[in-house]
Amino acid sequence: MNIVLLGAPGSGKGTQAAMISGRYGTPHISTGDILRQAVTDGTSLGLKAKGYMDRGELVPDEIIIGVVEECLREEDCERGFILDGFPRTVAQAESLEESLKEMGGSLDVVLNIEVEDEEIIRRLTGRRICGKCGRIFHLLFDPPRDEGVCEVCGGDLYQRADDTEETVRRRLEVYKEQTAPLIDFYKRKGLLRNVRGEKSAADVFEHVQETLEGIRG
Ligand code: AMP
Repeated sequence: MNIVLLGAPGSGKGTQAAMISGRYGTPHISTGDILRQAVTDGTSLGLKAKGYMDRGELVPDEIIIGVVEECLREEDCERGFILDGFPRTVAQAESLEESLKEMGGSLDVVLNIEVEDEEIIRRLTGRRICGKCGRIFHLLFDPPRDEGVCEVCGGDLYQRADDTEETVRRRLEVYKEQTAPLIDFYKRKGLLRNVRGEKSAADVFEHVQETLEGIRG
């Protein structure tokens, strides 16, 4: 299946995408992860993207569209893919439609994960990540035993530069201005399915799975 996950930052798209990928074996393409890796590796893509990411703004369409096209042409995407964090603008959505048409495919479903703003701010500003093993903690919902230290590997925990309250609020504004119009875009195409995202990841996944099974028929 060709799936797009839509939703504000912190709505749980990444978690659900990983769960869908684990259940159905479909490759998970996260543009945020690709860009963060490029920044860590210091590639030219990373150098171009870093400033936008740190400010909570979108990387220009012409940069990210090429990156995703390349991923979709990989052999492992032939039997389906899960896009997480792309498209984020109407121009990206139109270009995705064109690329898929050229490859003889189309989207099967767009899952829109809905979460209230205040919950998003709580989730993102409390997130802490281990710099060594990547384990994600949350100061309120899943706190580490010792402050600032990963209990799995002893690594130091850090906060993503774009998870500070000011930047999270900016990311939410950007989402509303540039990405939320995609809800209508995909509704008009009959592809949109809404999923409430406030519950636990397992509960949300249950609803996601029911929705996907309904589409697979
Ligand atoms: P995410 O992890 O999906 O929240 O993405 C982190 C950051 O990467 C975003 O705030 C943007 O700066 C950038 N980014 C990720 N995906 C896209 C995209 N499709 N278009 C533009 N910028 C993106």
